[in-house]
Amino acid sequence: MTEKKTTDDLLARRARLLGPAYRLFYDEPFHPVRGEGVWLYDAAGTPWLDAYNNVVPLGHARPEVVEAIARQAAVLNTHTRYLHEGILDYAERLLATMPPELGHATFTCTGSEANDLAMRIATAHTGNTGLIVTRFAYHGVTSALACASPSLGQYVRVGEHVRLVDAPEGGDATTGQRFADGVRAAVADLEAHGIAPAALLVDTVFSSDGVFTAPTGFLREAVEAIHAAGGVFIADEVQPGFGRTGEAFWGFMRHGVVPDIVTMGKPMGNGHPVAGLAVRPEVMKAFGQASRYFNTFGGNPVSMAAASAVLDVIQRNGLQDNALQVGNYLRERLAALGQRHALVGEARGAGLFIGLELVTDRATRAPATAQAAKVVNGLRQRQVLLSATGPQGNVLKIRPPLVFTREHADLLVERLDEVLGTLG
Ligand code: PMP
Repeated sequence: MTEKKTTDDLLARRARLLGPAYRLFYDEPFHPVRGEGVWLYDAAGTPWLDAYNNVVPLGHARPEVVEAIARQAAVLNTHTRYLHEGILDYAERLLATMPPELGHATFTCTGSEANDLAMRIATAHTGNTGLIVTRFAYHGVTSALACASPSLGQYVRVGEHVRLVDAPEGGDATTGQRFADGVRAAVADLEAHGIAPAALLVDTVFSSDGVFTAPTGFLREAVEAIHAAGGVFIADEVQPGFGRTGEAFWGFMRHGVVPDIVTMGKPMGNGHPVAGLAVRPEVMKAFGQASRYFNTFGGNPVSMAAASAVLDVIQRNGLQDNALQVGNYLRERLAALGQRHALVGEARGAGLFIGLELVTDRATRAPATAQAAKVVNGLRQRQVLLSATGPQGNVLKIRPPLVFTREHADLLVERLDEVLGTLG
């Protein structure tokens, strides 16, 4: 079969078997058959640079994780209602990466489940139901989270107990106060409708809002504001967690705050579906008394073995520091493209979580939405994979595996320079 025929065949089968809700990336869909390190390979054996997949911080098909999964799967895989050391050893290691206030860990299979559980814990603890999220947030697939994920746009209706605050744009000394003002206004509006706030829930790098990471510390005042209103602060670390920001192991740490609940997922098992949350014991107490928690697959020995292997490699191989060094280098090189291409606006982010804003006018920051889509597709034609984010889809989202090197960064910049050149 020719590649074109294979693609057409797969597209037809997807439409027939998976139905209309699934979406593919790129004008011309991409069909990888194998992954290794920062590379995905197509059937012809051509390598594609993966600058997008934060789910594989150690790189694709990382042997240590593959072996840990295979080794444990060959011995025992069962649920958490029997005693097992794996979940305890991992919980100990995970909690050791966090401030001491976060004393309990709970495991799920997806980030959505972790956020959903966090909401239930917050509601049990506070007795309240109000939820504050950012204007273009994404927090998950469950009904409770879809109605607090306005980035799903036309597909969902924001819940009546949910209030939206502007994302912390600007990156200056007023960012924190402006963001906290938004939270205080949201609290007041909830209260005006007879709803008390249970939680402020934010992705600490504001990925779907367009990547906002500066200045460090800007979250502090908003956390104080939600506490003053009787709610808890939930740090959604699904995107920034496990060293990606380079400056800290968790995104919230860059802000000098201690969350009440920390949720995590994506990179935790290097592709194996394992996720979870860490919580202050006093915040967990009411939920534990009112309910029991059981998740058939969550925290099973194979998942814990995978997650443990991921922590081993991140810590042993200094991947957080690599994220910092290579991330700084890449961001500088991306910013420098601004000297050659008028479309290039701000290059922001932390470590290997980078947003490159494309604008048609630097002074007004008018979004270059159509051009961003062309850049993403143009890079795809040049074997580089990334995507775009933000309400206008004009921020290139660059979050490669943490094993990315300067040479990989150079290749990405070279190809991006080429594509931008075609757009004039
Ligand atoms: N929170 C954030 C910030 C996310 O980006 C995502 C996934 N994109 C989720 C939660 C949900 O995670 P999952 O897809 O594992 O359910």
